[in-house]
Amino acid sequence: MRITALAGGVGGARFLRGLLRHLEHRSATASGEAPTRITVIGNTGDDITLFGLRVCPDIDTILYTLGGGVHEGQGWGRADETHSLATELAALGATPQWFTLGDKDFATHVYRSQLLGRGMPLSQVVSRLSARWGLPDLGVTLLPMTDTPVETHVVVEEDGEQRAIHFQEWWVRHQAALPAERFVVAGLDQATAAPGVLDAIRETDVVLLPPSNPVVSIGIILGVPGVRDALRGTRAPVVGVSPLVGGRPVRGHADACLRAIGVEESSAGVAGLYEDFLDGWLVDEQDPMPAGRPSARSRLEVEHRPLLMSSVDAAADLAGAALDLGLRLREDRASRVTA
Ligand code: GDP
Ligand code: CA
Repeated sequence: MRITALAGGVGGARFLRGLLRHLEHRSATASGEAPTRITVIGNTGDDITLFGLRVCPDIDTILYTLGGGVHEGQGWGRADETHSLATELAALGATPQWFTLGDKDFATHVYRSQLLGRGMPLSQVVSRLSARWGLPDLGVTLLPMTDTPVETHVVVEEDGEQRAIHFQEWWVRHQAALPAERFVVAGLDQATAAPGVLDAIRETDVVLLPPSNPVVSIGIILGVPGVRDALRGTRAPVVGVSPLVGGRPVRGHADACLRAIGVEESSAGVAGLYEDFLDGWLVDEQDPMPAGRPSARSRLEVEHRPLLMSSVDAAADLAGAALDLGLRLREDRASRVTA
């Protein structure tokens, strides 16, 4: 089986770790099934250059989480970190100081910057880092959405004046408290999908959208030229998981992001962002969105599930439910084609 997933940082990584756990259980019960191959298309809109180093927060969160090196409580960064380098940089007066980088994490950014500086495309750098974290042995290929450097900027209004700041400055420094006017992704219209990205969407059995931020994670990947068309055109069902529980994001500021683009802060609002390609949608048990098909002509199938990834097992159940829905929709299609 082939699975392709689009992913941001923490929400995406926890879902994918659950998916791997689910597949472990599945292969233990269904012997003889060929091993599943998962291709993850990661958001690089969050990328930022700090202290001369290229930092890819979402990609690194996936590497650390799947590789067993993540700081569990934070959901990002490395476990058992020290901060000597950041302390010394602060003593030097180096800025910014609002972005936390631990010593082990710094090594990733130094190595990545060294390879990029030699002219290696980001996708090859990510492949090197993936090997460090054992992703190939897990059956996972992690691809950045593009090798072209892109950066999400947020247009904010302060003291009656509009200015664009880097997404990380808005998110981390201001905790998304500055009202956002809009998001602008520098470089995105000129970007090309990284090698393998479009094929991974076209030639797969199921596409999964983890509960990643619909605007600044999934939404950015959808903006890479060709990605949205590939999703519209793929024969594989596309199944997503709502990031909202009780009408609010489980963590982070997805509500502020949705407000900024004028979309209702609800699972139905988020599904509307994907309506031209979404086939299955998991919403929380208490979600007001009705189960089944919103209308006879709708392609969308809505199911209610517990959406909280409070443990790896809970994430495995959620990922298993998303995969099962995808496989069922796939069978339905196949039987309709042969009927
Ligand atoms: P980021 O890049 O680190 O912000 O992570 P993502 O974009 O991948 O995911 C962030 C989104 O995941 C947020 O909008 C959260 O609401 C959502 N999220 C986080 N934990 C959970 C969870 O346990 N269940 C669900 N359904 N969504 C979650
Ligand atoms: Ca992110």
